[in-house]
Formats: sequence, C-alpha cells, structure tokens
Amino acid sequence: MLLITCPVTRTDELVADRRIRSVTNHPSHIAMHVECPACGRVHTYRTGRRLEAAPAADGRQAKELVHA
Ligand SMILES: [Zn+2]
Repeated sequence: MLLITCPVTRTDELVADRRIRSVTNHPSHIAMHVECPACGRVHTYRTGRRLEAAPAADGRQAKELVHA
C-alpha cells in the first residue's frame, strides 16, 4: 500500500500496489506512476532515495572503520 496526495482533489489517498502502473529508476530518485483512485488520472511521484541509500551508506561507513 502507498499513501499519495492527489494534486487534483488535494486529498490523501491510500493506493494499492496494483495501481502502480510503472516504476522508473533514476540516478537520484525513483519515479512511480500511480493510477489515482480519487480522480482516475495517473500521477507521477518521486521517492526520496534516502531509505534506499541509507543501508549502503552505513555499510561504507562500517567498512571504513574496519580499515582505520
Ligand atoms: Zn488524482
């Protein structure tokens, strides 16, 4: 499930995963194209990459400490 804010109706909508039309990976973020239950259009949302990048950053930091 995914919580989105519809830019048309300005309401928060809980969206099922099957409504995600496509996911596109970009170097700086991930773009999700979501079929909106509120207005029926497809909106594009960017996910912050902090969640995905955090484990890698932690791993790198741990490795540097080992070599220190
Ligand atoms: Zn919408």
